[in-house]
Amino acid sequence: MEYVLALDEGTTSARAALYDREGRRIAMESAPIQPRYPQPGWVEQDPEEIWQAQLAAARLLIERCGIAPRQIGAIGITNQRETTIVWERASGRPVAPAIVWQCRRTADYCARLAASPAAAEITRRTGLVVDPYFSASKIRWILDHVPGMQARARAGELAFGTVDTWLVWKLTRGRVHVTDPSNASRTLLMHLASGDWDPVLLECFDVPRSMLPAIRPSSSIVGLADAAWLGSEIPIAGIAGDQQAALAGQACFRAGLCKNTYGTGCFALLHTGDAVPVSENRLLATRAASPDASPQFAIEGSVFIAGAAVQWLRDQLGLLATAAESEALATSVADTAGVYLVPAFVGLGAPHWDPAARGILTGLTRAAARAHIVRAALESIAYQTRDLIVAMERDAGQPLRELRVDGGAAANNFLMQFQADILDRPIVRPADTETTALGAAFLAGLAVGFWKGVEELESFRRVERIFEPHMPASQRERLLAGWQEAVARCRWRPDGMV
Ligand code: ADP
Repeated sequence: MEYVLALDEGTTSARAALYDREGRRIAMESAPIQPRYPQPGWVEQDPEEIWQAQLAAARLLIERCGIAPRQIGAIGITNQRETTIVWERASGRPVAPAIVWQCRRTADYCARLAASPAAAEITRRTGLVVDPYFSASKIRWILDHVPGMQARARAGELAFGTVDTWLVWKLTRGRVHVTDPSNASRTLLMHLASGDWDPVLLECFDVPRSMLPAIRPSSSIVGLADAAWLGSEIPIAGIAGDQQAALAGQACFRAGLCKNTYGTGCFALLHTGDAVPVSENRLLATRAASPDASPQFAIEGSVFIAGAAVQWLRDQLGLLATAAESEALATSVADTAGVYLVPAFVGLGAPHWDPAARGILTGLTRAAARAHIVRAALESIAYQTRDLIVAMERDAGQPLRELRVDGGAAANNFLMQFQADILDRPIVRPADTETTALGAAFLAGLAVGFWKGVEELESFRRVERIFEPHMPASQRERLLAGWQEAVARCRWRPDGMV
């Protein structure tokens, strides 16, 4: 046993990475996956393509590394969450395309349910809100729209899975039908505290229990990958949804530890230990991927437009040639000259929750130049993250000591320093920002004894840089007051109502 293999199945590509005993990434390979958009708001993928891409990436990795497959001690799987696949148990054939997490086809169904008395009970049981994002309404759609499926589901002929479940099914040639609590907690069908499928929720969505996988601990051996696939029978020993895997990959295994991923949007997760979180700020409560069998929890929140604001400057306004160029421009000026950008392009998320809000650029004077606007866009990512983290801290009832970061825009040093200043907490950037795959490897390696425990995993952490807060409190408060004013203005309505 010399390596752990992580399979990282994302929305646009499947990746495979190999880790050594010290938790170092030896190599990574990927294969693209093509989403399809059959109607406005609909997003689908081909389940067979997902599997073939994942298999191709893993095979390429093993071949390029020149290792013997039997040197791989365990496989860990991490995946795009909520994406829904239903297949025939007997043949293993999907009965419909995979309905991707982004797909809004069940918006009307969810709007009706969200307005009903059942909604509060669903939130109480799951820690989530009724929304097309989660799996349950997507299963409902398949059973309602593919002829004969409700009857076949009742007869026990169908299986449901998120992408982790599908990959395990494929790897084991249909012998194992499982998921883990971090993925199950995103379906709207699992009781968050008990960690089991909830009969009340199954009845609410009319989903037969026989379709559902067994829920197994995130770090446990769930089956053996057939030798035909990767050249050796390898234990599948770790499963986690992508955001929870990133939390584990950042070695956030204890209450109060938090990571934020700066991508197109931001995803922040705050570990709450064994305490079931209840959000007063409409953040989500979810399962963390536990390194042992004990239940662990997290509060999750997201910023809709983060790196996407930089893309907008580049593609819509033509102010930038590349996203990376934003750093030099932002630091070429001392401040934004009073300019704020609130990129509420698709409304505002937590803690404001205003879907009708729209983006706004405020404080413009003749002094405002390209660099000020670019700087304001980067600062907006930090302000939005701060608003989210403050809400999370309030929900968790404990302050953050530091924020661990990853994702494409975490490479921006100006953004990270401004984040430290405006949050008034140290920002910690790891050497390896591929934290999702690393988290899956950690979970699998623990289960097979490749690693001894979380202390050992913590010792693997290699910090590339810590950004300490330096900004005087008076300056921070002045800047935050300006931001809050700008946010209030982007919620302005033509009738004068704020
Ligand atoms: P995703 O996984 O959501 O596609 P990534 O983690 O690859 O995103 O990050 C890409 C996003 O980060 C893009 O929106 C891009 O505009 C932004 N980005 C990438 N590099 C930088 C940078 N140096 N400064 C600011 N933003 C950046």
